[in-house]
Amino acid sequence: MSSAPEGGGDLPRLRAGGGQTHRTDVLVLGASFAGIEVVLQLQRRLARPLRITVVDRQPSHGYIPLVHERLCGRLPAETTALPTARFVDSLPGASFVRGEVSAFDPDRKQVTLTSGQRIRARFVVVALGSELAPPPSLPGSELLLRAKQGDEVEHARERLDELLRGGEGEGEDPPPRLVVVGGGISGAELAGELALLRRERPSGWRAPEVTLVSAGERLLPELSVGVGRKASAALRAQGVELRLGTRLVRAEPGAVTLRRGEAEPERLPCAVALWAGGIRPAPVLAHLGLPLTEDGWLAVGPTLQCFPTPVPTRPDVFACGDAVRIEGGEGTWPTMQRAIECLWQAKVVARNLATLAVCAPRYPSGVPSLRPHLLRPSFAYGVSLGARSLVVWGAVRVDLPAINTWFRRWLMRRYLARYAPRG
Ligand SMILES: Cc1cc2nc3c(=O)[nH]c(=O)nc-3n(C[C@H](O)[C@H](O)[C@H](O)COP(=O)(O)OP(=O)(O)OC[C@H]3O[C@@H](n4cnc5c(N)ncnc54)[C@H](O)[C@@H]3O)c2cc1C
Repeated sequence: MSSAPEGGGDLPRLRAGGGQTHRTDVLVLGASFAGIEVVLQLQRRLARPLRITVVDRQPSHGYIPLVHERLCGRLPAETTALPTARFVDSLPGASFVRGEVSAFDPDRKQVTLTSGQRIRARFVVVALGSELAPPPSLPGSELLLRAKQGDEVEHARERLDELLRGGEGEGEDPPPRLVVVGGGISGAELAGELALLRRERPSGWRAPEVTLVSAGERLLPELSVGVGRKASAALRAQGVELRLGTRLVRAEPGAVTLRRGEAEPERLPCAVALWAGGIRPAPVLAHLGLPLTEDGWLAVGPTLQCFPTPVPTRPDVFACGDAVRIEGGEGTWPTMQRAIECLWQAKVVARNLATLAVCAPRYPSGVPSLRPHLLRPSFAYGVSLGARSLVVWGAVRVDLPAINTWFRRWLMRRYLARYAPRG
């Protein structure tokens, strides 16, 4: 079989802007956990180098799993960011384009950026992830602070600085109340970190009052009942007010409205509310012309191809990471939507893409069979709860704050080293 990629010959280095169409061999959309690992795995696996183009709106990526520590100043921003664009540009044959993906034509395998630039490739990998955002139908949703990536984290950090700086010692000025919305791992970690400000905080800050609101009757629904109970006790012991079984029904400047069951809504004054109540598909996923699940995620097959038809028509379009739900076998797979899952999926995508890349573009001898992603329903969790923590694996759960903090920072350092610019 021949191994010729589609596309033109030597091309100038890609830059954002212009209305031209550039050609490349592999186009990776999104460079967070999933996209960047696809690039790394391709470098390791391709029998011969292909031109790889990576598009993301962010040229660097702050470390998401410790976003609560970055937000509250326990970890400085400069030590927690991956220089993604520099890493990609340091790899042979790879280039990073900073841009906003606006549309995709799966038949032509051509993506359009808001700058007007078009990029066409033989292989496309969509890793455009999710956003941490409340439902737009929630009144006042735009007032909720959110912190996952990009400018959001900086903005949220500046807002906290504005609210918490000064005021200490002024007896009549009560500490501001911060409301965290969401009782899953992210909400519990954020509430715990805010509560920890009573013990250690950036110079000049005062400690807030913290309320956690969750529609669920218990914390951490993704883990066992016992773990949820322990987390509640740990947060309450650090002064977090828990409002469980309670929905946020409105946000307005200086207050939120909460409702428990069918009871009368209650207005709770607060300085600000922070959203940690769940992720949604990245908005652009709806504009890519790719199969979607009912709730707007990319529906892929077990081989992580977007068109997993028995006789493949468009075998060269893959997707992975938070953006996907895998459909196959007995239904939709309950993937974890965690960083580790992104790495596992990226490996499968790279391996499958490398298998296809040694075939001629139109597969005259047929499309080879590809490997499926393996379902791993569970993995270890480290849940930081301010001065406390829970490390959970199956039935095992231990409270080892020092070790958990050290281990999670070690994981972050591994991540930064793994994608450090080469050369
Ligand atoms: C608060 C929080 C804490 C978390 N903690 C943990 C944890 O402790 N451990 C763990 O394993 N997982 C954790 N996760 C989950 C983990 O962060 C995600 O699973 C992971 O980030 C998914 O990676 P991804 O590459 O699929 O997508 P994302 O991280 O969502 O990245 C998508 C990328 O696409 C880019 N993008 C999106 N739209 C466009 C567009 N239109 N144009 C250009 N670029 C675009 C974005 O800039 C981004 O770089 C956490 C998530 C959150 C929100």
